[in-house]
Amino acid sequence: MPRPLVATIDIAALRHNLAVARKCAPASRILAVVKANAYGHGLTRALRGFADADGLGLIEPEGAIELRQFGWTKRIVLLEGFFDEADLQTVIDFELDTVVHSLAQLDLLEKLQPGRQDAQIDVHLKVNSGMNRLGFMPAECSAIWKRLRALPFVRDIGFVTHFANAEEGDHPVLPPSEQARRFMAATGDLSGMRSLSNSAADLLHPEFAVDWVRPGVMLYGATPAERTAASFDLRPAMTLQTEVIGIQQIAAGDAVGYGSRFVAERPMAIGVVACGYADGYPRHAPDGTPILVDGIRTRVVGRVSMDMITVDLTPIPYARIGSKVTLWGEGLPIDEVANAAGTVGYELMCAIMPRVRVVEI
Ligand code: PLP
Repeated sequence: MPRPLVATIDIAALRHNLAVARKCAPASRILAVVKANAYGHGLTRALRGFADADGLGLIEPEGAIELRQFGWTKRIVLLEGFFDEADLQTVIDFELDTVVHSLAQLDLLEKLQPGRQDAQIDVHLKVNSGMNRLGFMPAECSAIWKRLRALPFVRDIGFVTHFANAEEGDHPVLPPSEQARRFMAATGDLSGMRSLSNSAADLLHPEFAVDWVRPGVMLYGATPAERTAASFDLRPAMTLQTEVIGIQQIAAGDAVGYGSRFVAERPMAIGVVACGYADGYPRHAPDGTPILVDGIRTRVVGRVSMDMITVDLTPIPYARIGSKVTLWGEGLPIDEVANAAGTVGYELMCAIMPRVRVVEI
């Protein structure tokens, strides 16, 4: 019998969440973000879930090739552009769109001999509107646009920027409105499609939904916003479940697990659960992190180990070996687990390890 740990991917939930994104930005085209193996959900599953999207965006050129090989014919955008000449050739060969965020990339583009006479690509100029990660400073954009416009194989030029704080409309240092203002000031006079919004902006700031929106995490049923995903009508696309594989009856004063972090105040039953940090469960999840046993909410107690988690079975006196455990997903929002563990839903989804069996419904 295989180890009972399974990640179930709900394709209908992916579809539903895409429809929610559409409702948030009805006049925009949707570039569904599928980087990092579709945030851990698998590219082929994302293809089915996001068949109605207008395009797909990702970081990995090899992932883009796979998407083409799986039959995706609509737009694919490399969100960080190409990393070297070979990648640039991939852009041409597989008819990808590329972001250009640096002079080094622009130089490579200018040296390109496309080979195919008919090669035409769309390029998205990345504007650094304040996050200071990737992109050209606003004052440089017009000159960069002119250099791109001079390239015979560049068809359309778009403009993208990325919000640092879209989940906080009134961020004291860099509110999204200020980034949008800088972006429009830098590009407003230039022709081309525009795109600003990530999930948080899609959900909270419809005013930034322009030609394209680029939702990621919301499509998988999580949210960076303070409100719950369910309150935005988002459904969890990944449910991580396993079973209780051991039960220990311990006395007051007994400790559990490495470092004896948890010490029982009274006699209690401890459930040993088949999932650990080598599966992607966060090792730093503290005592009290929520978890479901037989559908009942209880808490992690003791340090997470490589292959196991220990949980308090007090609320589930009938729990037995084989009792079903939900680590996150249906019935237990991933955002809640992430929050307890001091991280974000993104990290938990992406961290699912290859040894975890994946099934889809
Ligand atoms: N656009 C770009 C350029 C990104 O890097 C990302 C992800 O970080 C997204 C859009 C999607 O962001 P989110 O998952 O927060 O919706």
